[in-house]
Amino acid sequence: MKIGVLALQGDFEAHRKALERAGAEAVEVRSAKDLEGIDGLVIPGGESTTMLKLLRAEGLFEPLAEFGRRKPILGTCAGAILLAREVQSPCQESLGLMNFTVERNAYGRQIDSRIVQLRGGEFSEPLEAVFIRAPIIRDVGPDARVLIEYNGDPVLVEQGKHMVATFHPELTADPRIHSRFLEKVRKG
Ligand code: GLN
Repeated sequence: MKIGVLALQGDFEAHRKALERAGAEAVEVRSAKDLEGIDGLVIPGGESTTMLKLLRAEGLFEPLAEFGRRKPILGTCAGAILLAREVQSPCQESLGLMNFTVERNAYGRQIDSRIVQLRGGEFSEPLEAVFIRAPIIRDVGPDARVLIEYNGDPVLVEQGKHMVATFHPELTADPRIHSRFLEKVRKG
């Protein structure tokens, strides 16, 4: 199984390693041509505004949206912002591949980052979650499913073949999020 990691900006290197630990072959994606031949894609955390600018500059925005209509995408933090139907605070363009709204930097400047233990749903064993200037997911549509929450807000959501986390699963040793995504890719 060959998984691409969008490598324009952000912590793509950590995702590449996490995917390899979970048993996939991981390749970096920097152009539309790199999307050929991959079975799924990870859009990493970073700065969504910068990623958008680079996607436009590389002519990669439309090919990425088209890829997402056919193949699974895992978006983490800034990646989750890019997949949303609507982005607030401030409003910006997005791929609109998943049915939720997202508010950027929603935990405020006071608590920029934090590490918490999440539990719930199918995660009976605590899941360590690293939040860094994280967005909050709101208004999840009926076609999407909240897999786990933190303080009452969705932090891991799936919809069909796609999945997003507002935390950084690539920064911990726990392979469950990447493994779950690989399982979705396997099912096609
Ligand atoms: N604050 C960033 C944004 O709005 C996301 C932060 C992250 O990916 N860790 O794009």
